[in-house]
Amino acid sequence: MKIAIMGAMLEEVEPFLEVAEHEPLLEYFKKHTDTVYGGNIYHEAKYKGLDIVLAYSKIGKVNAGLTASMMIEKFGAEMLLFSGVAGAVNPQLKIGDLIAATHLCQHDLDITAFGHPHGFVPEGKVYVEPSQHLLHIAKEVADEKGINLKGGIIATGDQFIADPERKEWIQKTFEADAIEMEGAAVAVICDALNVPFFVLRAISDTADTDATFDFDEFLKHSSKVSSSFILAMIDKISDDYAK
Ligand code: SAH
Repeated sequence: MKIAIMGAMLEEVEPFLEVAEHEPLLEYFKKHTDTVYGGNIYHEAKYKGLDIVLAYSKIGKVNAGLTASMMIEKFGAEMLLFSGVAGAVNPQLKIGDLIAATHLCQHDLDITAFGHPHGFVPEGKVYVEPSQHLLHIAKEVADEKGINLKGGIIATGDQFIADPERKEWIQKTFEADAIEMEGAAVAVICDALNVPFFVLRAISDTADTDATFDFDEFLKHSSKVSSSFILAMIDKISDDYAK
C-alpha cells in the first residue's frame, strides 16, 4: 500500500520530517529518497510496511492539484491524507481544534451567471466527499486518544480570508465550518482518479480581521496538532494493510 501525505506549506509537512529524527520514523527517513518534480520535493520511503510519499504543494488550488496528481500518477499513491491548517468559520471551532472534512467545496468557483449554483460546473458536483473508511479510522483514533475531532464542511478557494463579511457569505452559501486554499482541489483530483482521500485541518485563525496575526502565531503549533493526528492514523492503517 502506497500512501501520500500532503500539505500545502513546508511548515505543514516539516513535523513529519522532524518526528523522523526521534521516533520510529527514523528508519523510514534514513532510507528515504527525494525527487524534485515540477518544482516540488517528493520524499519517498518505507514506514511500518507502508510505502509513503510526502510532499508540500505550495499554496492554492492549482498547486495542490498538481501535487495530488503527481503523487497518484507518478508516484503511484493509492490513498492520500492531507494535513494542514485552516481558518475557522463555525464559531465552535477554536484555534488548535481539529476538523476532518466530511464534504469539500470550492467557494470561489462561480458560473452563477448561467444559473448554476455557487461551486458548481457542469459534470461536476458542489460537494466532494472523502473516504468513509478513512473518516472511520479518524474517528477511532480520536476516540482512543480522547481527541475532540469535529467533522464538517471545508470550503476551499484561492483567497486567504481575513474578512468577516466574506466569511459569513461562505458560511451561508456553503454551510462551511472551515476555510482553506487546497482541500477541495485535492478532493476533486482524488475523486476523479478513484483514490481514497482524507483532509484534516487544525485551526490556525478565525478568518476575521486579525486572521493574519493569528495565522503567523499558530501556524507551527496547529501544523503539529494536525500532523500528529495523521501519524496516529498512519499507524492504524499500517496495522490493516502492512501485512
Ligand atoms: N503566510 C503565508 C500565506 C499563508 S496562506 C505566506 O506569507 O506565505 C494560508 C494557508 O493556510 C493556505 O495554505 C490555506 O490553506 C490555509 N489557511 C489558514 N487560514 C486560512 C484562511 N483564513 N483563509 C484561507 N486559507 C487559510
